[in-house]
Amino acid sequence: MAYILIVLFIALVALLISYYEYWGIGPQKGIVRRIPKKKGKYVALTFDDGPSKEYTPAILEILKSRDVKASFFVTGKMVERYPDIVKRMADEGHDIGNHTYDHFNLILLSNSRVEEQIEKGEDAIKSITGIKPALFRPPRCLMNKRIRTMILTKGYQIVLWSVSAADWGPLKARGIAFRVCHFVRPGRIILLHDGGSLVGSEGGDRSDTVNALPVILDRLIEKGYKIVPASELIRLAETADEISCLDQAS
Ligand SMILES: [Zn+2]
Repeated sequence: MAYILIVLFIALVALLISYYEYWGIGPQKGIVRRIPKKKGKYVALTFDDGPSKEYTPAILEILKSRDVKASFFVTGKMVERYPDIVKRMADEGHDIGNHTYDHFNLILLSNSRVEEQIEKGEDAIKSITGIKPALFRPPRCLMNKRIRTMILTKGYQIVLWSVSAADWGPLKARGIAFRVCHFVRPGRIILLHDGGSLVGSEGGDRSDTVNALPVILDRLIEKGYKIVPASELIRLAETADEISCLDQAS
């Protein structure tokens, strides 16, 4: 019973963190949520929890139609299930980031199991792209100092977000597109989902995300934004301070 309550509490906190603009507390070294707006009108679109057979190909098609490159944070088990989709992501120039193997809450795992989750996720991606992924996003953004240190020690840049589309909840396509277009600012990283589900790691309906995507892309392009993969956004930030930028006004 206590375990269920703890899991529910963590899920609730994760939902709140994802829904509201979250700027982080505590040390931010090695974490990027956005880069300073002075770098120009750049934004990064990121998709979590895929690949999924139903939604990822449609998302790739929409991105291709606007010649936009994005970043996909994939779980190893889904990579193994749909290797062709991951191959397509790589061939079409998108970032592929490590989102662990199973999408477990890393905070609840022992060091050796955390290592296993990172490495198995990494190996799944590497078996397709031939290169070690450079970017990492912990499942549901849940991390403490122990987890953060382990991820950084493995040579990853941790990528979170500063605009959540909240497409994991009840919002329909219109609401998702409105949220993104309302909160977007230069330098922001936008979070969407091409897989996963509210509490599990797969099976959610992402058709509203797919339907919102053309509206989001067209609106951002119309507003003069350049949409780049997260790796490129990070390259635009020249110093560690700019990458781990904490000042909301920057
Ligand atoms: Zn996730």
